[in-house]
Amino acid sequence: MFTSIATVSISGTLESKLRAIARAGFNGVEIFENDLLTSQVSARDAGALMRDLGLECTLFQPFRDFEGMPDTLRPRIFERIERKFDVMQELGTDLLLVCSNVSPAASADRGRIVADFRELGERAAKRGLRVGYEALAWGRHVSDHRKAWSIVLDVDHPAIGLILDSFQSLARNIPNESLREIDPARIFIVQLADAPVLQMDFLSWSRHFRNMPGQGELPLVDYVATLLEQGYTGALSLEIFNDRFRSSSATAVALDGHRALNFLSDQVARRLAPRIAPELPPRARVRGVEFVEFAANEGEVEQLESLFTTLGFSRSGKHRTKDVMRWRQNGINFVINNEPDSFARAYDGMHGASVCALGVSVENVANALRRAEGLQIEQFSQPLGPGELVIPCVHGVGGSLLYFTEAGSESAVWDTEFVAVQGSPVNGNAGLLRVDHVAQTMQHEEMLSWLLYYVSLFDVSKTPVVQVADPLGLVQSQAIESAEGGLRITLNASTSSQTLSARFLQGYHGAGVQHIALATADIFASARRLRELGLATLPIPRNYYEDLEARFGLGETLLAQLAEFNILYDRDTDGEYFHLVSRAFAKRFFFEVIERRGYRAYGAANATIRLAAQSRYRDDLDR
Ligand code: MG
Ligand code: MG
Repeated sequence: MFTSIATVSISGTLESKLRAIARAGFNGVEIFENDLLTSQVSARDAGALMRDLGLECTLFQPFRDFEGMPDTLRPRIFERIERKFDVMQELGTDLLLVCSNVSPAASADRGRIVADFRELGERAAKRGLRVGYEALAWGRHVSDHRKAWSIVLDVDHPAIGLILDSFQSLARNIPNESLREIDPARIFIVQLADAPVLQMDFLSWSRHFRNMPGQGELPLVDYVATLLEQGYTGALSLEIFNDRFRSSSATAVALDGHRALNFLSDQVARRLAPRIAPELPPRARVRGVEFVEFAANEGEVEQLESLFTTLGFSRSGKHRTKDVMRWRQNGINFVINNEPDSFARAYDGMHGASVCALGVSVENVANALRRAEGLQIEQFSQPLGPGELVIPCVHGVGGSLLYFTEAGSESAVWDTEFVAVQGSPVNGNAGLLRVDHVAQTMQHEEMLSWLLYYVSLFDVSKTPVVQVADPLGLVQSQAIESAEGGLRITLNASTSSQTLSARFLQGYHGAGVQHIALATADIFASARRLRELGLATLPIPRNYYEDLEARFGLGETLLAQLAEFNILYDRDTDGEYFHLVSRAFAKRFFFEVIERRGYRAYGAANATIRLAAQSRYRDDLDR
């Protein structure tokens, strides 16, 4: 697959964009005219730079308001286009993108439109150039690739072909079957963008909300699979207009773009197998979260240990050579890493005591690592002590780490690396069984990137985005989850500077794990035990319980029990959800104790109550 991206998709100067695009591994680049107009670099020098970087200039775009213009304007338009042909030759590309006319002056006269393109074809052919016609979803008379294709057929000139753009087609719900009507040899290039499904005008939707394949909801796999089945072999080129990406690092967005194309072509190959062989192993299937690693320094370890104790955890092992302790409760392992000169120590220096790594149990670690490599996710390693096991590890999101343990032989790590702690007091388990979900908070700009990381690496699906009301602004939340629930991660971000998630980022100096939800099979037994152990829970106002009664008619006994232990409740068509929230550790992260009775979501209905309670508590602390 020949990969390409339009310069408009990322931030920076033209040169920095080109360098970032080359570094990410793209084969080609579309030069967006504005990026050239605003640059100090001449078209000739930009062409030379692309060649030096090993990038092919796939096309120059856009040429607007071309076809069907009044006679008085026509000569000027052809004069303008000849100048753009000059620029193209300096850049070193032979393809110009002409998008369908949006001018009120444009005529719908088909004969005139066809004649304009025929003349353009003649002029282009004289110079060895080609022109591709793209239907904009908001074009005045041509807003559908089927109509653009019928015009290209009527023009019938070898220098005039079609340009497809997945957003333009899919935003208008044009059936992918219609792609089968098009001669693939006449498709000069295919531009790709995904997007969330929104109810808004096409132009605003396209200009601000496009995103990378896999980050949105459009049927892109089907779109591309249909084209490849038809015999299309040309470039797949990202053309993403998104404010979030333009305020992010060019390097990171370019890398995400390349990862998104790899992920897309992997999905397409699986769809078309055995005709096309997938290059990557399948997405990794996660059995569960095997451990959560906390970074801490000497001063913080004791506080962290006392929190773990009040949650019903016991110290169960000590690392053979390092200052690393294992705390355990049923199927949950917490690791406290206090080893000097380690990754964890550096992480602690940056963020304070917090979650620095997750260990997930996957089926076939070797495949997971190969897939990570193919997605340009780097491996991580640090010096090993004598007799230590290499736990395969890759760079996670937000500077954290992600370890892989082999499903079914997780105990190897604990048996090899840790010595059981003798005589540690069994302080009484609180019935917490496993990690249910991990909530991560990140900058709004980072959210789509983290989403792509998880969906491309792991066999997970994404839930729709939900908006949660914080007392001081809106928070966007979206989850990735595996079918059997082995991996559930919620991603949360906010554009308001005062929401709890925004203040988390300020206090945390970056993005990271904000809460960990631990599952119990009996919320009331666990709540009672946690109270005995001294866990401080977040107080929930009486008004909430009165509203619960009004909404669900739970009955006085159940309601009194919920209120007694500050347990939040939700119910939907799948089942019931009970959850309580601990006070935050150093305002940095907190625990949730949850019981699912058939329920599959995350209690978003209660998030507003929880955020208000946390905000109140936090403000009290601040005072
Ligand atoms: Mg386009
Ligand atoms: Mg939660």
